[in-house]
Amino acid sequence: MFKRILIANRGEIAVRVFRACRELDIEPVVVYSEADREALHVQLAEHSYCIGPASSAQSYLNTDAILTVAKAAHCDAIHPGYGFLSENAEFADECEKNGITWIGPSGDVIRMMGNKAAARELMKDAGVPVVPGSDGSVADAAEAKRIADEIGYPVLIKAAAGGGGRGMRKVFDPDQFEDLFEEARAESRACFNDDEMYLEKLVLNPHHIEFQIMADSCGNVVQLGERDCSIQRRGQKMIEETPSRVLTPELRERMGEAAVKAARAAGYVNAGTIEFVLDPSGEFYFIEMNTRIQVEHPITECVTGIDLVREQLRVASGLSLSFTQDDINLRGHAIECRINAEDPAHGFMPSPGLVDFVHLPGGYGVRVDTGLYAGCELPPYYDSLAAKLIVWAPTRLEAIRRMRRCLEEFVIDGPKTNIDVLHQIMYHPGFIRATYNTSFIDENLDTLLAWTNAADVQEEA
Ligand code: ADP
Ligand code: ADP
Ligand code: MG
Repeated sequence: MFKRILIANRGEIAVRVFRACRELDIEPVVVYSEADREALHVQLAEHSYCIGPASSAQSYLNTDAILTVAKAAHCDAIHPGYGFLSENAEFADECEKNGITWIGPSGDVIRMMGNKAAARELMKDAGVPVVPGSDGSVADAAEAKRIADEIGYPVLIKAAAGGGGRGMRKVFDPDQFEDLFEEARAESRACFNDDEMYLEKLVLNPHHIEFQIMADSCGNVVQLGERDCSIQRRGQKMIEETPSRVLTPELRERMGEAAVKAARAAGYVNAGTIEFVLDPSGEFYFIEMNTRIQVEHPITECVTGIDLVREQLRVASGLSLSFTQDDINLRGHAIECRINAEDPAHGFMPSPGLVDFVHLPGGYGVRVDTGLYAGCELPPYYDSLAAKLIVWAPTRLEAIRRMRRCLEEFVIDGPKTNIDVLHQIMYHPGFIRATYNTSFIDENLDTLLAWTNAADVQEEA
């Protein structure tokens, strides 16, 4: 096992990985930007190094600074968390070249899956169902338009390098195709410095169902069940739950097998996620593979009893998985709410700043992964995720009731948050009956905001 691991990230995931290291008697080394001097991961750590100014380009994405620290501090491995460098194939290669183990799949696998148009082709060849669409990427708007006419509207224009819902446009009206194509391409250039585009048929009202997989270097690939992440705003997940109410045991089995097939086709090692859209008719299609630990991994940990970050470290150090497929028994129900420092009343605009006071919920079946503490500062430079509230209970209804109770207990004074909106969702009939799909937020946001507002007025009165 490793002696020292550098954690190349910040916020809740830096704390999450830090804890896994400590429990395995591995010394965690953390890094931080000038804006994060007082951050929780820095306060917890015995070894911490400043790697640059606030902007992530000069700090958390500063590969030279991070490698220099890793070498100077004698780290034998780097855990990238999610976001930042986690899907940077060149950096993964660079680490290995410097004799530092990359805790994740190889640079080649990251590269292959990082091009979503190429990943689609690989999956198609491996017999994993993909959404009807272009063969690989498209050269220009004219060619894309021809293919769109063939596959039929509505279509989804997607960036091959896409992530976080960026570089994507839905097209319902063929007359708007070219404009939307150029818009999506410009967004992809701006966000990912890449303008390779591809097309998929837009599946209407699908569920976003993803499978967690874990693979070791001895050839074992195991799937750890699904997560339903259909509660999304602008392609960004807000709430995730497992198991999904829409999967029959038979469908779960088939999708799980497809996920394992996909991971094998990619030659995958370490933790990864295979994302599918599930058509209301029951057909499912691969959309992408995320080659890293995912934000919503804790709900899988709750129902499987497996510490995924610990397994990541084991696998990266060359050990085999500590479980087999037969050991995976999903127990109970888990839900995660992403608590963001955002102002729902103003288009979910980021709301950073000083947190005067914070109270975290607790009790049986409750987990809060966060970097929050009273008096901390949420810097404006990074993602607005402030905390992840995860609950577990024997049944779905009990989990919903527990989540409501926890959201009522949660206090964050200072920045605006989406806590009240999440709380209203826990009372929405569409959520309670699990009849929701990825259109839920678009269709219900106005109602949810009105309810939130009414609840505020009532409280003030
Ligand atoms: P998930 O939430 O399912 O783990 P996301 O795609 O939302 O996956 O990404 C997780 C985190 O990584 C988010 O903080 C998001 O902002 C960030 N992220 C996603 N894609 C990129 C990218 N290409 N470059 C930088 N950050 C990204
Ligand atoms: P990202 O890399 O930004 O996460 P994804 O390919 O995972 O992009 O798509 C983001 C979200 O958009 C998905 O979670 C799903 O809700 C929706 N989506 C993606 N592809 C399709 C599709 N072909 N039809 C309908 N919805 C889709
Ligand atoms: Mg995705």
